[in-house]
Amino acid sequence: MLIETPLTAQLEAQRDDRLRVLIVGAGIAGITLAQLLRRDGLHPVLIDRMTGHDHPGYMLALMPTVDQAFVDLGVQEKYRAASTPMTRYSFRSHRGKVLRTDSMSELLGVYGDYNGISRGALIEVLTDGGCPVTLGTTVDAVAGGVARLTDRSGRPAGEAAFDLVVGADGIRSRMRDVLGAGALDVVDTGWSGWVAWAEEIGSPDLGEELWGDGFFLGVYPVKDRLGVFLGGPDAELEAGPIAFAASVRRRIQDMAPRLDAALAAVEADPAPYLWRLEDAGVARWVLPQDAVQSVLLGDAAAGFLPTAGIGAGMAIESAWLLGRMLAGAERDALLARLSAWETVERQRVESAQANSRMLARLMFRRGRLTAWLRETTMRMLSVRAVLGPIVKLVAARPDPDAALASAPRNGTPADGAAARRSEVPSSCADSPRAEEPRSA
Ligand SMILES: Cc1cc2nc3c(=O)[nH]c(=O)nc-3n(C[C@H](O)[C@H](O)[C@H](O)COP(=O)(O)OP(=O)(O)OC[C@H]3O[C@@H](n4cnc5c(N)ncnc54)[C@H](O)[C@@H]3O)c2cc1C
Repeated sequence: MLIETPLTAQLEAQRDDRLRVLIVGAGIAGITLAQLLRRDGLHPVLIDRMTGHDHPGYMLALMPTVDQAFVDLGVQEKYRAASTPMTRYSFRSHRGKVLRTDSMSELLGVYGDYNGISRGALIEVLTDGGCPVTLGTTVDAVAGGVARLTDRSGRPAGEAAFDLVVGADGIRSRMRDVLGAGALDVVDTGWSGWVAWAEEIGSPDLGEELWGDGFFLGVYPVKDRLGVFLGGPDAELEAGPIAFAASVRRRIQDMAPRLDAALAAVEADPAPYLWRLEDAGVARWVLPQDAVQSVLLGDAAAGFLPTAGIGAGMAIESAWLLGRMLAGAERDALLARLSAWETVERQRVESAQANSRMLARLMFRRGRLTAWLRETTMRMLSVRAVLGPIVKLVAARPDPDAALASAPRNGTPADGAAARRSEVPSSCADSPRAEEPRSA
């Protein structure tokens, strides 16, 4: 669990660490990195702007890219117990008819688990054994090796020197500006969607999606319930969830009980969580400051559209690889290791992001003809074909030792163009399943 801890206590615990690390954002990536560094004997200072532990509830389907992190953290069995295998995926027509059902276990089972879990349950798994965090706190400047911390209203909360500052503050990251990440590359679909929860009524291993003409309905199992996502163009969502769900009902002719329950869940929720469907990326993840190193991690480095369902999968993988590559590192090796990490991981994440953007072009188009063309294409294409680049990533897990061996001696930040030249770097091995952890 997250353990609320005063900032002074976290700073004191870190005083004699060989690397003083500050992680801004106790979300999925920040917590994963913090817990891995703790296992390496460090005491990273973890802060979050939120004031309570009330994680916004939504469902996540996690690709096998996360498995090695769970193994290394010793929580793989807890993860399996808190989640549910999603072994099948159905694609429905804009009228609601099932066009095809594919086996996700045949596609991904050889590489590891493909499970549904709620965000709250995932954070419980990742923080198993306890994870200190200072809430209601952020950073508004990093200069001369010192981070200036503030509370949510910008009132000073202290200053402290660090060797590494990690911006893991999510898709609307402020740390990008604080650390000088430069221009953002954003795809804005002009769509948003509500998230709600429904009772499971029959197929706890089945994820389903209905790509309509001007709406999207997704139903995803987590343990003992269903996560529902109902999206549409922003202008049409202005009518509110009840009116929009009613308009979707009118458009679905083949109303299966599960779809009906999903729409009813949106209608019944007094304040469903609204997710804006845009992504974001920055050109550089490693951003050396004056006298301190800094990086962006997770959605802050590259946020995802929902179309490939892999944002958290890549955020955990990135945090895991960074944690493994920082194991035993001294201050003077920091930049070289960070640069080597970026070289390997950024091209993997950007390739997954490109796949999700390609699917978004297919999904967020309106018109009957477009819907018909989409359905004809999807009827012929398997999930394997649609998620091809992502399956490739899953098949070739990055190898931290090989990545370290390629670390540039002078610590020059990664050259993005060079990094993108080969599709799968030599520091990625074809590695079907997660391996037993090395001793911490
Ligand atoms: C509805 C929904 C469904 C999704 N489904 C999937 C899925 O099926 N599969 C999948 O892999 N991914 C999915 N994702 C994406 C996934 O949730 C994200 O990619 C993942 O959470 C990224 O982790 P993160 O740690 O980078 O960011 P977050 O988990 O968003 O964490 C960021 C943290 O930073 C904190 N913070 C924000 N600003 C500041 C600040 N200025 N200072 C300090 N702290 C700050 C926040 O409070 C938060 O705790 C989904 C996302 C949503 C919204």
